[in-house]
Amino acid sequence: MLNQKISDIKNFKLEDAPLQKIDDPLILSSGINLYIKREDLIHPALSGNKWYKLKYNLIDAAEKNFNSLLSFGGAFSNHIYALASAGKIFGFKTTGIIRGEEHLPLNPTLKFAVNNGMELHYISRSEYRKKNDSEFLKKINEKFGDVYVLPEGGSNTLAVKGTAEILSGITVPFDYICLPCGTGGTIAGIISALNEIQFALGFSVLKGGTFLKDNVSHFLSEAEVKRKINWDINLDYHFGGYAKYNSQLLDFIRRFESTNNIQIEPIYTAKMFYGIYDLIHKKYFKPGSTIIAIHTGGLQGFNSSILLKPNRFRW
Ligand SMILES: *Cc1c(COP(=O)(O)O)cnc(C)c1O
Repeated sequence: MLNQKISDIKNFKLEDAPLQKIDDPLILSSGINLYIKREDLIHPALSGNKWYKLKYNLIDAAEKNFNSLLSFGGAFSNHIYALASAGKIFGFKTTGIIRGEEHLPLNPTLKFAVNNGMELHYISRSEYRKKNDSEFLKKINEKFGDVYVLPEGGSNTLAVKGTAEILSGITVPFDYICLPCGTGGTIAGIISALNEIQFALGFSVLKGGTFLKDNVSHFLSEAEVKRKINWDINLDYHFGGYAKYNSQLLDFIRRFESTNNIQIEPIYTAKMFYGIYDLIHKKYFKPGSTIIAIHTGGLQGFNSSILLKPNRFRW
């Protein structure tokens, strides 16, 4: 029974994540080759980077005989959504500790979580800030019993091991690999699998993202990755902070979607693509470079009706 669960997780069948060339007139003349790795397509609910972050945590939980998983997130969290789905698929009970007050009716993210069997508990924003303290975690264990606790966003050493696998699916040679960063867990995994002539460039989706560089260094040393210098996190495209955006970013999304026929959202992937396009224009990348941008998913929490307006994009 136990071994069955572990092998179900290890052998979980994902859809293909094709590598597509972005043939956008805005960047064609730059001489840069831009590809997108469609990790958003690997599964309807466990899409993007969140599956890779969960994979070895789920295996670890199963190996340690836990039947119950608990984690933290905001009301639109892609991590909470994926965790609920994974719990349902592989047979774990799941609990989500949600930042802020309950709002009814539940938004689509939390409704999906509940429909997949997740139990939700709400805590105040000030409580939520303590979520990594040992005192707080002790209380969680007292209240919820024998649960396997995953940190917010699922970022830990096992997540780093999982996200390294995103790179093994990429077979074309490239110079840069780009992705949006929230906690830095995903880029740490990518960095761990790079060779010396490849460079990882993350885009902070938060204001004041300098801490991300420390996070990444911390994840890399925890994962015992030998010191690497071929990476950086750009801090210039946060658009005011986490989950903040403006009409320029929405216009960019409208244009990107109609030109490339690929959906992106304003919290993560659009900030990265805006940054990549802008840096291409500013000649940040070496001429002739090949860039791979990872579509990390995140479309579940996005209400795309805000895009139903004319496209006025101007660079
Ligand atoms: C969670 C998430 C990220 C950020 O991943 P980190 O490992 O926290 O840096 C990026 N993109 C999407 C769509 C996400 O859901």
